[in-house]
Amino acid sequence: MLQKAPGKSCGSCTMCCKSLEIDVFKKPMGVLCTHCVNNSGCTIYETRPDVCRDFLCEWIMDRTMSPVLRPDRIGTIFMEDPDNDDYQAVCDPSKPYAWRNPLVFKHLVQMAKNGHTVIAKSGLRAWRVYPDGHATEWS
Ligand code: SF4
Ligand code: SF4
Repeated sequence: MLQKAPGKSCGSCTMCCKSLEIDVFKKPMGVLCTHCVNNSGCTIYETRPDVCRDFLCEWIMDRTMSPVLRPDRIGTIFMEDPDNDDYQAVCDPSKPYAWRNPLVFKHLVQMAKNGHTVIAKSGLRAWRVYPDGHATEWS
């Protein structure tokens, strides 16, 4: 079961309620969920669907990840795929190159060095980030 790291909280971040696609609401990527009050949170928290209950981003689960990397501060959500070694950086569509922020990019290169297949995504575009610090468009 996924767990928040001690001392971590979403605070005013609502990035996953905006940037991710949520089928059960037919909500596309990049559109704030109608149940979300920006900078406040979920208005149906007790009855939110399982897909929301089951989601935690990497930042909130990793006690070592710096506060400056909180998703709303960098415009990027980090997610690890439980079924393979993929590590994704999903950008807020209004900040499609947020993954190029030096702070974010440094983290992505480190994850690639750690053996992950690192993919930065923005809308329908994606880029692979490599351990040597270069990136190429990914299709
Ligand atoms: S993206 Fe992470 S920190 Fe932000 S609201 Fe979602 S779970 Fe919380
Ligand atoms: S139902 Fe609540 S937790 Fe789920 S996306 Fe909407 S605002 Fe976020």
